[in-house]
Amino acid sequence: MKAHRIAVIAGDGIGKEVMPEGVRVLEAAARKFDIPLELRTFDWAHCDYYLKHGKMMPDDWFEQLRGFDAIFFGAVGMPSKVPDHVSLWGSLLKFRRDFDQYVNLRPVRLMPGVPCPLANRKVGDIDMMIIRENTEGEYSSVGGRMFEGTERETVMQESVFTRKGVDRILKYAFELANRRPKKHLTSATKSNGMSISMPYWDERVEAMAKHYPQVRWDKYHIDILTARFVLSPDRFDVVVASNLFGDILSDLGPACAGTIGIAPSANMNPERTFPSLFEPVHGSAPDIYGQNIANPIAMIWSAAMMLDFLGNGDVRHVAAHDAIVAAIEKVLVEGPVTPDLGGKARTPDVGKAIEAALA
Ligand code: ATP
Ligand code: MG
Repeated sequence: MKAHRIAVIAGDGIGKEVMPEGVRVLEAAARKFDIPLELRTFDWAHCDYYLKHGKMMPDDWFEQLRGFDAIFFGAVGMPSKVPDHVSLWGSLLKFRRDFDQYVNLRPVRLMPGVPCPLANRKVGDIDMMIIRENTEGEYSSVGGRMFEGTERETVMQESVFTRKGVDRILKYAFELANRRPKKHLTSATKSNGMSISMPYWDERVEAMAKHYPQVRWDKYHIDILTARFVLSPDRFDVVVASNLFGDILSDLGPACAGTIGIAPSANMNPERTFPSLFEPVHGSAPDIYGQNIANPIAMIWSAAMMLDFLGNGDVRHVAAHDAIVAAIEKVLVEGPVTPDLGGKARTPDVGKAIEAALA
């Protein structure tokens, strides 16, 4: 088997603390399941690089990375010295757009040992996949300002939905729903308020659903959907949403399932034309950086998602994914855990414990 080529970019803040633990468990799982990996570390796409060079990445970043199978990414952001829109648009958002990573997938599960902020919820009640469209929709840069500085000052920003963009995310979502035991899909809409774009989204959902008669599906307006996430999270399986709605839901979901320190995510180019990117949901957390108390589980779970994606259905890769998730569950129950989960452990203690549980 050819080795998977993985670019490792730790980034800023706690990205630098959780990345070694992600790599530790990734390499341990690869050894155990005999999966050849070739890791290469890149020391850019972080704010120290920006402060030295006036840009987040070298000009040839695209050529340097495009031959990799995946990017394993920590976090970016140093808001005290570099505005977030500069660091984000100069790195992570370039990867997502230029590598056409149009599927943003975030599994949301209530894990054993994790306190749930929702009352009376037990393990098994929350188990969903949130799929966010990652390249178009509300986050277009189309628009502008008119009559600036006058009483008529007007600002517009357009949403852009293409048939290609909408259909490919819906297809991914229905395929995933079709492979899961519950075979249920929920679409987020707002066709009562956004009277052009969202009715189109709904139409495309209905058209796509015809190809998947085994999948039961429904749709909710985004406002009531956020309420349902909190009041009845057990009714959701696969949830698909546009860029903005998906952004909101994919923060709300992990929050309903406990700490942000364990939530993983994948930014995928399913056709594999370009590398896909795997990263924790959390950011660089400057407030706790430097103390070595960041929870590395989101990073480690992202490694499991990466192996699963790289295997493309291969049984050893699926086994490696499942073994990492099982090791995470064991450590969440038995400890050691970091302060965000009420423990006293430091970041490497958790990484080492998960590595040991894997063995
Ligand atoms: P973003 O980078 O998405 O803009 P942010 O910078 O606002 O997010 P985060 O960096 O994710 O937010 O941090 C939000 C809060 O969660 C902070 O208080 C941070 O300390 C905490 N936090 C984030 N990640 C972790 C982690 N891995 N372990 C423990 N606490 C974390
Ligand atoms: Mg941040």
